[in-house]
Amino acid sequence: MDSRKRILIKGGTVLTFQSNILVCDQLDVLVEYDKIADIGKNLVPSLETEEISAKGMIVSPGLIDTHRHLWQSAFKGYASNWKLMEYLNGMLGDIAPKMTPSDVYNGNLLGALEAVNSGITTIFDWSHIMNSDEHTEAAIRGLKVSGIRAKFGYGTPGTSVWEWFFESKKSHPVNAYDIKKKYFHSDNDLVTMALGIRGPEYSEMSVTKKDIAMGRDMNLQISMHIGGGAFGPKYQGIQKLHQQGLLGSDLNFAHGNTLDDKDFQLLADYGCSLSITPEVELQMGLGLPATGRAVKHNVICSLGVDVVTATSGNLFDQMKIALQAERAIQNEKMYQNGQMSEKLTIQDLDIFKMATIGGAKTLGLEQKIGTLEVGKQADIILIDVDKLGIAPYSNPVSTVVLYAKEHNVDTVIIAGKIIKRNDKLVNQTIDELILECRLNSYKFMEPSNEKLATEKL
Ligand SMILES: [Zn+2]
Repeated sequence: MDSRKRILIKGGTVLTFQSNILVCDQLDVLVEYDKIADIGKNLVPSLETEEISAKGMIVSPGLIDTHRHLWQSAFKGYASNWKLMEYLNGMLGDIAPKMTPSDVYNGNLLGALEAVNSGITTIFDWSHIMNSDEHTEAAIRGLKVSGIRAKFGYGTPGTSVWEWFFESKKSHPVNAYDIKKKYFHSDNDLVTMALGIRGPEYSEMSVTKKDIAMGRDMNLQISMHIGGGAFGPKYQGIQKLHQQGLLGSDLNFAHGNTLDDKDFQLLADYGCSLSITPEVELQMGLGLPATGRAVKHNVICSLGVDVVTATSGNLFDQMKIALQAERAIQNEKMYQNGQMSEKLTIQDLDIFKMATIGGAKTLGLEQKIGTLEVGKQADIILIDVDKLGIAPYSNPVSTVVLYAKEHNVDTVIIAGKIIKRNDKLVNQTIDELILECRLNSYKFMEPSNEKLATEKL
């Protein structure tokens, strides 16, 4: 018997899409085990149903982060003043080789919990810290212990950034086959597998071709970084993938800042998905976020945090930055043409879609998650709108996109299981984990920072 119960979420403002139509209404949501069993007015609970009052709350599909390197979660602020090359050298060059399996476990668990705490119910963990089988096991265990729904993107070892990330000649590790066999047995599990490959901007084309063939042989979604700063025009990755006949709907790309219109058209034509991570892109010199161009070309697109070494770990900030950065881009274009813009062409609703159903489509999970619909998985968040900073609210969409923060997320349910309730994570000992992450992260610091660490201790 499944330990999960029936849960009736009563009296909230349900904010979702049903068959692509926006729903915003006072409704009850009935959860039975891992699925949404009913949505309607004045649903009556049976005897065995736990009732959750959602009065004064928005009831939303869980948010979906489609691109993050969770293993870096213990290094907040390390990259806050770095550009991309400094990040590659500092994080992948210096820190990654020193990571132990225990560090990876702690990072993944901490990162997944901070994601859940902020209303993210599904995450794509792009894990390029596969230094040994023990590292791999630790990363997967961290995800599983957190209770989050995840795609584990099995990446390359973090043992040498030069060998693995600078026009690499090395193919993706073939023990991906063993990892799949050992840890991933069903697409119905909460944590499933994908492949995080280097792609044409970080490995030779012959390597990319081989890596994609391996992912397809294993029937896995394949993700890679593309169009990041000068690498975009230099390597012409999308065009090369097209010339080799490699584009397909199983390919996911992160960033896409410096792709051109022809590239976006190809992404749309082949059903490839794009994960936009606006905050880190703006900081690290990847280029302007591709949000507007992706929407204009009807590319399947969504949002991600990418690295908490430089940014916050919630999707609320990414939603807000994506929206306002795109508005700035479009307004600036008008001014450059000597015109005053009269109307904004991208709306908060476009961004809410990207963080929910867009995320589900990006991960190929739209039949399961991304909206609140009967028969879908019960991945639901309750956002308390009666707190200072968010109250009084008038528009539920703008409330989620522009005002909500972690502390407004009252309840998180994933696959019918309550992970957060009354603004507290359930059954997780956070204080010890944070302390362990803090103490372990000091060993990676430069000598000057070690002094600071000692002083703090
Ligand atoms: Zn990334």
